[in-house]
Amino acid sequence: MMLGPVRHLLRPATQPAFKPGAQHGVPSARAAAPELAGIPRGWLPPGKKAAVVFTIDDVHPGTSRDSYEAGGDLGHGQLRFLLRLLATHSRLRATLFVTADWRAKLPSVSRPRIMNVPGLRRLWCEWNTLPAGTMRIDRFPRFVEFLKGLSGVEIGLHGLTDNRRRHPTHLEYLDASEADCRRSLAQIFEIFHGAGLPFVPGMSPPGWHVGPELATAMREAGLTFVGSSRDLVSPVHRGAISNMSGLTGTSLIEPQWVYGGLLNFTTNYQATSTIDRAKAIVDNGGLLAIKAHVIKKAGSHVALDGLDEEYCDHLHVLFDYLETVGADLWWTSMGEIAARCVAAQEAEVPAREANDP
Ligand SMILES: [Zn+2]
Repeated sequence: MMLGPVRHLLRPATQPAFKPGAQHGVPSARAAAPELAGIPRGWLPPGKKAAVVFTIDDVHPGTSRDSYEAGGDLGHGQLRFLLRLLATHSRLRATLFVTADWRAKLPSVSRPRIMNVPGLRRLWCEWNTLPAGTMRIDRFPRFVEFLKGLSGVEIGLHGLTDNRRRHPTHLEYLDASEADCRRSLAQIFEIFHGAGLPFVPGMSPPGWHVGPELATAMREAGLTFVGSSRDLVSPVHRGAISNMSGLTGTSLIEPQWVYGGLLNFTTNYQATSTIDRAKAIVDNGGLLAIKAHVIKKAGSHVALDGLDEEYCDHLHVLFDYLETVGADLWWTSMGEIAARCVAAQEAEVPAREANDP
């Protein structure tokens, strides 16, 4: 079992502002822990009334000389937008979800109609798959050093390849068995370890998909959180439920335990959202979870929430507003919230056992 060798890898990727001691979040005997469900009481620290996190998916070393840039051009590429935002908004934190060995020429099929033809579908999926190792992060030390040098930024996981090699390709774990998921996680850990890139113990699963197989493998491996829900349309109120991408039926505006012990986050804001939605989430004491994808355009595919000048300007306006909210808004990260909830839950277990004759 890989628990032993893996545990030391799950170090905080966060920089000093994140209080690294609070970031480890790797529970002992995770698999034997009691089943957790619902919204963790006290996920907000005392004195905070709402929270904000910002996450970016699909980060990998692709450069402008490849099919598309996804971080490989460092401060001159797509991540320049993140640098701008961090430089202007000092309380902002970000989680970059990085793919260990990105293997998709295109992250999504541009002409879905050709997928109706089985022969073409197979050929496209083959054509779209990069050879293993092409974008493996341990082969890009400058990229890794750049990520490690980003202040206020933590690194999370975004699959092994982001490519299932069958349509729809981006749902990497769609029909993976528990053994497949274990193997995939072991490879991810090995690659991150080889790259020397620390990460927080959570994943934004490619295509938002986490099934019981991946969830079990994640828990066994000591991972504690997942960002598997997205809902940009449901009206915001306390008790609102997510009903769009990935896991549905989870809280729209608060973190929630799923699969017995992974803390799930719902993305509830992106480039197409309005500031009013952010305001409603904050006013309802929720977690404003903002998503961007590092790739704006690949082939004829254009991501609505891809980083570009326009989205960056939108985010400046949003963060300007959030800065007016006051000190009771918690600018945090998914890794930090998960670490807080895991620590609180672990503190509760001995207390409960002590009270139990
Ligand atoms: Zn992805």
